Amino acid sequence: MNILIQKFGGTSMATEETRKNVADKIMEAKKIYDNVVVVVSAIGRLGAPYATDSLLHLVNYKNTKLSSKEIDLLMSVGEIISSLVLTNTLLESGIDACALTGGGAGIITDDNYNSADVININTEPLMKLLNEGKVPVVAGFQGVTIGNDVTTLGRGGSDTTASLLGEALNASEVEIYTDVDGIMTADPRICKSAKIIDEISYNEVFQMAGSGAKVIHPRAVEVARRAGIPLIIKNTFNNSKGTSIKRHIGVERKKTIEDKLITSIAHKTNITQFSIKGDIDDENFFTDLARENVSIDIINIFPERKVFTIDDVCKDKVIRLIEKYEAPYTFIDDCCKVTIIGEKITGVPGVMAKIIRCLSKSSVEILQTADSLSTIACLIKEKDLVIAAEALHKEFMLG
Ligand code: ADP
Ligand code: ASP
Ligand code: MG
Repeated sequence: MNILIQKFGGTSMATEETRKNVADKIMEAKKIYDNVVVVVSAIGRLGAPYATDSLLHLVNYKNTKLSSKEIDLLMSVGEIISSLVLTNTLLESGIDACALTGGGAGIITDDNYNSADVININTEPLMKLLNEGKVPVVAGFQGVTIGNDVTTLGRGGSDTTASLLGEALNASEVEIYTDVDGIMTADPRICKSAKIIDEISYNEVFQMAGSGAKVIHPRAVEVARRAGIPLIIKNTFNNSKGTSIKRHIGVERKKTIEDKLITSIAHKTNITQFSIKGDIDDENFFTDLARENVSIDIINIFPERKVFTIDDVCKDKVIRLIEKYEAPYTFIDDCCKVTIIGEKITGVPGVMAKIIRCLSKSSVEILQTADSLSTIACLIKEKDLVIAAEALHKEFMLG
């Protein structure tokens, strides 16, 4: 029995019209596959009444009095509404569908609220529906603990639900439908010259997603890689081929990008850089940060200075903590991180020189850098993001 997982994001679910496109994609898939399992995100983006960010706004999220457990219960509602609305559309179109919550689909997680890990999937409820010839429409981004409390899987987590169900049901493929034609060499919203990538390896796309490319959640890529299931990113609103993420890269792709050192540029916004001067108790300070649940990124520790970045939402928390240590500090907010990604950069001299030359020619100041085997990231001011992304895109011949 061959199974296809199809996941539809918030923009695909936004209106009655777009949900008709979704129904068409499901109908087409039903002609090819014995079984189709659908995963949905909450309807629309911020401003739409049941979008995740809108639900969070209702409770003044940054200063909410709700516990993280209650926030999960609130956020889960968006996807549940979405699964019911799409199920209704499918039934109206003559497709026998059935809505399920994450828990109803057998997804069991740990109790790490807001970013839970799936520990088991009981496939029985889904298999029962498939055997009855139905299309299950699963609310993405959520599960339940063993004690039956609702959890969510981290922002953008409906992609993760899709990959996890693909793994549990041994699906042939997982299709992620969104509002762009596939994975591109950069986010088309900030880089007008971005181009579609036909095929890409799990590793490269994992690095892209981890560096902020919102088009797919990094955990979804990780799970698909572990299960060896191809992930295809496609546009709900046209019939373009999309991007295939697979283990083996085809000969065709090798020919087209052989001479290119990097495959893409990703970015992450809403970053604040902290610089603490003087001698503080490093061990206690970083332990306190962890206790406060502050995740730190680009980190440089010198005997007399610690520099690191955090997500803007944690800024006040970090300031309060540093002041407790009475250490002199400075911070720069409104920063962003631009990352170049390419498996071929490892050990190649001159890549950093190229980045520095390119950004300085565009008068973009580099505030901090970090690198890994296949990435180099530069922290810059957010006002320089578009110019930096376009300049790097051109410099590395991605257009
Ligand atoms: P969905 O609601 O369908 O999950 P997302 O907003 O999570 O959609 O992801 C799609 C968006 O990802 C696109 O609209 C695009 O702006 C953004 N994006 C960021 N980086 C890339 C990239 N490299 N390729 C394509 N899209 C990207
Ligand atoms: N609705 C959730 C979010 O906005 C999950 C998702 O869209 O994948 O993060
Ligand atoms: Mg998404």
